[in-house]
Amino acid sequence: MLARTPACVECGLPWGAPSFKHEDEAPLYWSDTGLLCSSTCAQTHFGKRRVEGTFVAIPAECPVEV
Ligand SMILES: [Zn+2]
Repeated sequence: MLARTPACVECGLPWGAPSFKHEDEAPLYWSDTGLLCSSTCAQTHFGKRRVEGTFVAIPAECPVEV
């Protein structure tokens, strides 16, 4: 479940932080478990998910309402 204030599920960077990658008001990276702040965190996250066997090939809908 998403926290009240979304943050990167890998590094904990809060959504809205200057270094959180976004386009207009929408995040650029996310998974079914939450937001990802950058391509680096996205690669780390999906790498872990593949190892865990929980990788979901179907893109999750963006979990943030914009
Ligand atoms: Zn991150």
